[in-house]
Amino acid sequence: MNRTLLIVKPDATDRNLIGHVVNRLEKARFKVVEMRMLTLTEEQARKFYAVHEGKPFLNDLVAFMTSGRVVPMVLEKENAVEDLRTLIGATNPANAACGTIRSEIALNIEKNSVHASDSNENAAIEIAFFFE
Ligand code: ADP
Ligand code: MG
Repeated sequence: MNRTLLIVKPDATDRNLIGHVVNRLEKARFKVVEMRMLTLTEEQARKFYAVHEGKPFLNDLVAFMTSGRVVPMVLEKENAVEDLRTLIGATNPANAACGTIRSEIALNIEKNSVHASDSNENAAIEIAFFFE
């Protein structure tokens, strides 16, 4: 078993899509083992996305991620990190494979509804960011 972090982003919480996302995850055999809801401060959002320091989209991303509620959750499954990245689809929904979560509900490359850790190492760091 392997763990990863998913965040339901503000565009999805605003459109009442928390349940939809959880349903997609559970149908794909991910087990939700931790979950909470919060509104990120600017400081928290900058820290979470520190890897994107210097990117042209960072300020807009921080503004978006602090604009509403987010729902981080820890998911457990065999091969969780890779399988979750496959299930959510590409960053830009225009490029996301048919049937992926982002292809169905993401609004655009920024407001793309969900975050998922991209490696086991980052999953551990991101899980620790939100959960003890
Ligand atoms: P992913 O979330 O697929 O791992 P990245 O780590 O590259 O994607 O980017 C983090 C987040 O920053 C994306 O999910 C998206 O919300 C936003 N983002 C990425 N690239 C862009 C871009 N070119 N323009 C606007 N927002 C972007
Ligand atoms: Mg990423």
